[in-house]
Amino acid sequence: LPNTRVAVVTGGNKGIGFEVCRQLASGGIAVVLTARDEMRGGEAVERLNALGLSHVVFHQLEITDASSAAALAGFLKARFGKLDILVNNAAVGGVEYGQEFDTNEEKRVEWMLKNAREPIDSAKNSVKTNYYGTKHVIEALLPLLQASSEGRIVNVSSNYGLLRHIGNEEVRQELNDVDNLTEERLAELLDKFMKDFEAGALEPHGWPTKFSAYKVAKTAMNAYSRILARRHPELRVNCAHPGFVKTDMSMGSGVLTPEEGARNLVKVALLPDGGPTGAYFAMGEEALF
Ligand code: NDP
Repeated sequence: LPNTRVAVVTGGNKGIGFEVCRQLASGGIAVVLTARDEMRGGEAVERLNALGLSHVVFHQLEITDASSAAALAGFLKARFGKLDILVNNAAVGGVEYGQEFDTNEEKRVEWMLKNAREPIDSAKNSVKTNYYGTKHVIEALLPLLQASSEGRIVNVSSNYGLLRHIGNEEVRQELNDVDNLTEERLAELLDKFMKDFEAGALEPHGWPTKFSAYKVAKTAMNAYSRILARRHPELRVNCAHPGFVKTDMSMGSGVLTPEEGARNLVKVALLPDGGPTGAYFAMGEEALF
């Protein structure tokens, strides 16, 4: 159908991403549910098809793999010729717990804060996935978003990505000064963060110390999102925090169901034409970065 809008959701096989797929498809949007694992993704699509949502299709996407993103772009170009909505949902928590939780739900957050360890590889992977992976997917799909009448990007963020988590005032100001910030500078800041991480010197340099790579990567993604919004006024590029949601990432803690969390993102994806861009939404409402 020529008027059908097309959406891509990354990490659509479970959690909030799966629910975003379901809700977008329920609104009549053709959804390309992507997942890094063919099996998990295919099963998720089957579940949605079984609900009568036959316009959900699967395509593989490992967001850290350039050839995988290029293959998705090729598929979209051939099948739809455009992309209207990109929801960058896929992410990793960047921490290890080393054991199964042994607490009830109320005590879970406390348990997580106490037991979360950040091995260097997990931290690296968090920056690689949550920042660079998201950025590379956007770059690969940008021409298709520009072929839409008003392409939208929703970068799924977190209140952990708010600038207040960056204690170093100079860095915080740089990240907030989107008129002068560049992608090159963002890469330098992330390199600096990893160096300080490896040197065990996060605290003296004003980086966050708990869930540090996750926080820094999401903060960088937010800043990149604002750079992109300025560069592409023809698009709508926004960040959205779903709320604290019961998923695998939060080990089943959280206050919202995936359905409620997804609603906060879908609302941003479906804002009327000419709406805000370069903005941050928390729980569906515009807020400060
Ligand atoms: P889940 O862990 O349940 O789901 C994460 C999804 O991302 C999975 O589908 C996972 O795939 C996928 N993924 C991870 N790495 C990659 C990769 N390299 N390539 C492709 N897909 C990948 O987490 P949530 O549903 O909770 O999180 C969804 C989003 O919401 C994330 O961006 C998260 O940061 C954000 N968020 C979540 C909050 C919460 O309370 N849950 C709070 C604030 C933000 P696989 O199954 O193969 O691992």
